[in-house]
Formats: sequence, structure tokens, C-alpha cells
Amino acid sequence: MEKSVHYADLLKQKGLKSTPQRMAMLRIMETKGHADIDEIYQEIKKDFVSISLATVYKNINTLLDEGIIQEIKVPQKKSKFEIAKYKHSHFVCERCGEVYDVQRPKKLNIELPEGFEPREASVMVVGVCKRCH
Ligand SMILES: [Zn+2]
Ligand SMILES: [Zn+2]
Repeated sequence: MEKSVHYADLLKQKGLKSTPQRMAMLRIMETKGHADIDEIYQEIKKDFVSISLATVYKNINTLLDEGIIQEIKVPQKKSKFEIAKYKHSHFVCERCGEVYDVQRPKKLNIELPEGFEPREASVMVVGVCKRCH
């Protein structure tokens, strides 16, 4: 209950209506941690039987634009979405496709060509997760 109030505020801050669909999508992402569009669609259809995939896409894009959620590009798989939170990196399991939050590396040693000024770097670790070992 408390969570949905929090999401309603968050949407309001960004000037978005807290439609039941948006609230449901945020709850799904909160529960799953990371979810791709199909997972969100399958889950939301349980409550909103007639919702279309296009509507889900549209809402995802709106939430992305406002920085409420963020996209994780998973190699060779569909992007996953999660509620934007503290900065972290991701570990993607190449067997089960599960995405895990991991700490960001404390130091990155990447040599850039002269005249390039880095602002941010994101790191994705690909490997095999504990469950699939
Ligand atoms: Zn795995
Ligand atoms: Zn994450």
C-alpha cells in the first residue's frame, strides 16, 4: 500500500497521471526487479485483460522519458526494465538470461583518445550465475 502511494507521488512529480496501468507496471517491475516487455505484458494482462502490447510500450516509453524507470540492454535478448534507483551495474547470466544488480566497479581503467572527456561509464558483466553453475 505504501509503495503505491510513493509511485503516485513520483508520477505526479513528473507531471504524469497515475493511471492504474502505470501503477501496475511499476509494481510489476518492483516485484520482478528486472522485467522485459513480454514479462510485463503477461503480468499486467492478469489485471487488465484488454490492455494491448502497444499501450504497454507507450507507457514504458513515457516512464523511460521521465527517468522513472531505466532500460538495461541485454545482449541478444530483449531489454529489461527496472525502476530507476541508485547507480549500479548489471550481471547478465548467459544461460538463464537473468539480470542481477551488482556493485559498480570502483575504478575503471579505460584509455580514451586524446581530447575525449568521459562523463559516465556503464559496465555490464556477462557470465554464468550461481543458480546455473
Ligand atoms: Zn543463470
Ligand atoms: Zn538493476
